[in-house]
Amino acid sequence: MTDAVIRLFGRPVERIHCVGVGGMGVGPLAIYLAGRGLSVSGEDDAMTEAMRLQLVRAGVSVGPMPAGCDLLACSSAIRPDHPAAVAARAAAIPIVRRGELLAEVAKGLRLVAVCGSHGKTTTTAMLAHALRRSGFGAGYIVGGLFADEALPPAAAGSNDWLVAEIDESDGTIERFSPEITVATNLDWDHPDHYRTPEALERTFGDLFRRTRGMVLVNAACAASGRLTAGLPGAARFGGEGEYSYHLDAQDEAGLRLRFGGRYRVSGARVRARGAFNAANAAAALAAAEGMGAVVSEDALADYPPVRRRQSVLHAGPDFVVIEDYAHHPAEIAALLGSLRAQLPPGARLVAAFQPHRYSRTAQFREAFVGALAAADSLHLLDVYPAGEDPVEGGRSTDLAEACRASGRAEVYHHGSDGAACFSAIEASLRPGDHIAVVGAGDIDQMARAWLGKRTWDARASSLKASLSPDTRIEREEPLGPKTTLRAGGAARLFAEPASVEDLRQLVLFAGRERVPCLCLGRGSNLVVPDEGVDGLVLSFAHPSWSRFEMQPDGRIWVGAGLRLKALCGQAAKAGLAGFEFLEGIPGSVGGALRMNAGAMGGWMFDIVAEVLLMTPEGRVETVSRDKLTVDYRSCRELITSVALGALINPVSKSESEAISRKIEAYRLRRQASQPREPSAGCAFKNPPGDFAGRLIEACGLKGRRVGDAEVSEVHANFIINRGAASAADVIALMRLVRSEVRAQTGFLLEPEVLLFGGDWSRVL
Ligand SMILES: Cc1cc2nc3c(=O)[nH]c(=O)nc-3n(C[C@H](O)[C@H](O)[C@H](O)COP(=O)(O)OP(=O)(O)OC[C@H]3O[C@@H](n4cnc5c(N)ncnc54)[C@H](O)[C@@H]3O)c2cc1C
Repeated sequence: MTDAVIRLFGRPVERIHCVGVGGMGVGPLAIYLAGRGLSVSGEDDAMTEAMRLQLVRAGVSVGPMPAGCDLLACSSAIRPDHPAAVAARAAAIPIVRRGELLAEVAKGLRLVAVCGSHGKTTTTAMLAHALRRSGFGAGYIVGGLFADEALPPAAAGSNDWLVAEIDESDGTIERFSPEITVATNLDWDHPDHYRTPEALERTFGDLFRRTRGMVLVNAACAASGRLTAGLPGAARFGGEGEYSYHLDAQDEAGLRLRFGGRYRVSGARVRARGAFNAANAAAALAAAEGMGAVVSEDALADYPPVRRRQSVLHAGPDFVVIEDYAHHPAEIAALLGSLRAQLPPGARLVAAFQPHRYSRTAQFREAFVGALAAADSLHLLDVYPAGEDPVEGGRSTDLAEACRASGRAEVYHHGSDGAACFSAIEASLRPGDHIAVVGAGDIDQMARAWLGKRTWDARASSLKASLSPDTRIEREEPLGPKTTLRAGGAARLFAEPASVEDLRQLVLFAGRERVPCLCLGRGSNLVVPDEGVDGLVLSFAHPSWSRFEMQPDGRIWVGAGLRLKALCGQAAKAGLAGFEFLEGIPGSVGGALRMNAGAMGGWMFDIVAEVLLMTPEGRVETVSRDKLTVDYRSCRELITSVALGALINPVSKSESEAISRKIEAYRLRRQASQPREPSAGCAFKNPPGDFAGRLIEACGLKGRRVGDAEVSEVHANFIINRGAASAADVIALMRLVRSEVRAQTGFLLEPEVLLFGGDWSRVL
């Protein structure tokens, strides 16, 4: 569904651009709006792949603000001098904050506002899940991503209910008038906005009074009790509340709750752990029933957890790593308390903490000291500012000092160096230790990077032991310089096998370890993502793969690593005609076989008699041309198998000079029609009945740039690197070209270049 128009802020709105769309506030809202049929785009400097996948899947186009936007929505962390905000002001496009837009969108819907200091994302996710399982088609907007990437964080729904997490951090909560409000608990937070606890309570009290129906609060929260006293719609979950629950059991499968009071369902099995999750589940199921849904005991039995909520990143006999978004002292105390209870005898609890916001760190410094005291050893990283400037007493060094002053011995501060932090932790580990990775910033990515590195290091050393010394194995080998585009990141593992046997060991290893195994030729048809390739990359640079050998029957054996230019040159020297078309293609035999490279009317498979390949199971097979599934820019068998080389049929014998003349004529033709700057060749396939280059040019896109990536002025289907283009620049430009061509001509261009180790459908 696209191109809907809805009235927002008193005007019709069709196109919305969102800044900060990689965040958990704006991203899910953008997805919800796209689901409502609006044309939504968004950008973020710190986009995770997980969020990008959800956005792209929902039809949100990721990139700079397109022309013709009606509204700009910004996360509260976006500063007024952000280029999109500056451009919007210049074009008189209204700018709103995430909360303001959500409040506006919720008008006319029956809003269930999930708010409170802790647990609102989990409660919203549980409520959305329980409603989905009950067939109650409410729309929802969760402020986080589900661990199961098949589940979107937001959906438009099929009735007039909307479940959404409401954020109190920036004051936009004042705009909401919900049908039902669920307040998980109230603890003073966001001291940058609420100077005192009373100021925060006033805001919640006002929200409760604006709520048209039920106000569901936590019976254990004194402030919530005070604020709802005498309120007609008030109901409490837990304790002696109207919705009472009891935590009967907790085991590997999760929680077992028994319900009393107003609940219609008698109990619930919940796939989650911890007393705080029992409260979240009880609130979610009470709210679902309050909306009129009929929930079953199993509504949360398969609850798919939200990312960054007690996510187990590593669990082995050596140690356990649990990552959590906790960033308020109360959350940290609950988390560390529950992890301490799970510790095996003799094991220690090590906390790695990245405080979130200077203002919070300064205001609650002593409470943080108390909460973090539950860990045996504390490793601090610098504050994640979330757009704030430093405030007095709010730096990590202040917290470290306060922890030491309280008498703690093991307090370490690592600045912003996540790698140093985790290698210090690793150096001190004892078997069975639990590491709690805590914070709402990017500490989770640092922990994942550390664990990933450990795994790949171990893989590299076990591989080295199984290969001959002639085979080169590297960790984090930069791939950009090995491509013609000269952009992109590194291979986690890189190998140049020196023999067929070593190649077999490498292929089998990748299969055993279940890691992607990718062949790299001359890198002339590839975009390597900036984050590199999480896999084993095989290169055929060893001279043993570059053979050109005449066979007694007149055919020629060419190795996978042989450059096409060398193949052409050697054939010309031997007076063999029919290869001239390959001369200007800057690839290798392996890449040309996989891509069925073609030019000047000739195709690779026009001249191939047989291909020698290795299957993923390590079998070496000779496959004749007629048994291969060959198509435009593709040989299907080589998507999974590795080409070792091919037997080539020469077309005819000819004078070397005549061959050289033909090669020269082709070279001149190329020179006139293709750019000389680094590129990956044609970016897009020609659509049926037309040419990608012609369409791109007709749309006026020649010369269009993103960063140092540019649509070539010489040939519009080439994206060139003007010097320092990143893969992200190239991809963003491809996205832009694709959407412009589609908008202007109706053609949806498909990429011809390959995204190395990736899938275009996830990023374009
Ligand atoms: C300036 C320029 C002009 C170009 N002109 C043309 C053209 O006219 N016609 C044309 O068809 N292409 C053209 N290309 C694209 C490119 O050169 C071809 O697709 C070429 O065949 C790719 O070979 P490569 O060795 O560089 O492969 P790479 O780009 O390294 O890899 C391409 C694919 O082949 C796979 N591969 C590589 N080696 C093997 C192997 N041994 N076994 C199995 N799979 C393997 C890779 O995994 C990848 O999937 C051009 C590119 C540039 C930069």
